[in-house]
Amino acid sequence: MSSPAFREFESRFLDAYWHQYPSAAITIGYGRYYEDLVIPDSISFRKNIAFSDKWLDSLRSTTFDSLDDNSKISYLIIENQLLSDKWYADTLKSQEWNPAQYNLSNECYYLLTQPYAPLDSRLRTLSQHLSHSADYYSAALHTIQIPTNEQTELAIKQNQGGLDVFGSSMLDSITHSGLSAAEKDTIGRRVATTVEAIRNYCSGLQKILSAKDAKFRDFRLGKELYNRKFVYDLVTSFTPQEIFDRSMADKTIYHNEMFGLAVTLWPKYCAGLKKPADSLDLINTVIEKISLHHAKPADVMDTLKQQVHELEYFIVTRKLFKYDTNSNLKVRAMPAYMSGFALANAEFIPPYQKQGITYFNIDDVTKYPPAKAESVLREYNNYSLQFLTIHEAMPGHCLQGIYSNNHAPDIVKSVFQNGTMIEGWAVYAETMMLENGWGNHSPEMQLIHDKWKLRELCNVIIDYGLHCLNYSKSDITALLKKEAFQTDAQVEEKYHRAVVSQVQLCSYYSGMLEVMKLREDYKKKKGDQYDLEDFHEKFLSYGSAPVKYIREMMMK
Ligand code: ZN
Ligand code: ZN
Repeated sequence: MSSPAFREFESRFLDAYWHQYPSAAITIGYGRYYEDLVIPDSISFRKNIAFSDKWLDSLRSTTFDSLDDNSKISYLIIENQLLSDKWYADTLKSQEWNPAQYNLSNECYYLLTQPYAPLDSRLRTLSQHLSHSADYYSAALHTIQIPTNEQTELAIKQNQGGLDVFGSSMLDSITHSGLSAAEKDTIGRRVATTVEAIRNYCSGLQKILSAKDAKFRDFRLGKELYNRKFVYDLVTSFTPQEIFDRSMADKTIYHNEMFGLAVTLWPKYCAGLKKPADSLDLINTVIEKISLHHAKPADVMDTLKQQVHELEYFIVTRKLFKYDTNSNLKVRAMPAYMSGFALANAEFIPPYQKQGITYFNIDDVTKYPPAKAESVLREYNNYSLQFLTIHEAMPGHCLQGIYSNNHAPDIVKSVFQNGTMIEGWAVYAETMMLENGWGNHSPEMQLIHDKWKLRELCNVIIDYGLHCLNYSKSDITALLKKEAFQTDAQVEEKYHRAVVSQVQLCSYYSGMLEVMKLREDYKKKKGDQYDLEDFHEKFLSYGSAPVKYIREMMMK
């Protein structure tokens, strides 16, 4: 198959793919099949497996070697996606043990709020989409065999939280729309049925939880499934054992560096205090003092806005990027439905939509209870807050998202985004900015930077430790508190996240190491011609493809 023929194959494949997975089509903004809702019964999972087999056959009838480089990468991404879908359905079988994977609120929120079409037409689509919601939830309950306790609790919490989507603002939109009375009546009934179906689903799950002879699956994935999931989800050149060993070794390196910095900073922050004998306690004492310097709740938004501007100016004037400062990036208050989880996050334009605004969302800290606000702001103190802006916005997620939309050579690399590349990039950005003089090489910035690295590498240690090495909760608590300087609340949150997710926590540190290694090798290859701006522009021109594929292109 020639490369143009392959591109034709690609668009046929993608259309078939979104038809097969219509809920995913909604979240990436494809614009078709939104009215479809797949009922998650055993037949649907068998159909997904058959879909993978069929398209793997057609894909593999292509002669890989005849393709151009760009198509080769797309080939590998599509192959990984199909193999992964098949493996999820026939081997991992999370549909049988993870009740949290059934939830309609997110896609319905998208239909209601994304301006891809006029409201009336979106409401008609929503009405269609919800016409079998009761079947959806009863099939889900039927498909679940032996769930994990933790994911069952999560499913109840998330589905109950999702009821908001079907609340007053949806009903208002319907009332004020241009739909006919009959249409309004139909969609009104379907929304009511959906709310009831969600409640029934939650009470069904509650029954499972409280049954006297309740049997639950262990949330630990175990080495065999974990290793496989790692391959499909991360698409990295590391094995789990390698990244775990590397994280353990790097932890010691960061501790040593931090000890030196803490000793330097001691007189400035801790004069008159008794020096702890234990080096980790000494580091912690200095970090705690530094953390008292933080923004007031009411100033967080303005501070972050200002930082984004300063960072944009910095990366352009220091020739780190050819970034267009007129890009459509907006710093705004976080929408209510995502509030309460993180202080800030990046929100990308759905890949097919192309046009639109990339958001840097900031939570309203003035609405937090005072104790929580204080604790969050100490964590995101004056130094740490800068890394948050670098990671989430500039030149981390928001910048990368903008490049991915503008420059990705084709849509495959945007719709099947590689999370390891995305998180690895943002984590790389933290270190790269410091190397290039952001923060004027102050020891405070370096110390807090190192704390961020510890958090990222401990993500690997606790994830692998929990799912493959039988780490207990107290092992993890001790590690995060003592060796990564985390608060009780952060430890609790991270432990819970590691329990209900698997592998994803490894993406940050693995991805960063891959970007760093590629930069080092690219520098060697280019010799005198090497230029950091050139490296960044090239690296980001391949869309959100796995770093190991970008590497093949850049190192040719
Ligand atoms: Zn304070
Ligand atoms: Zn991130």
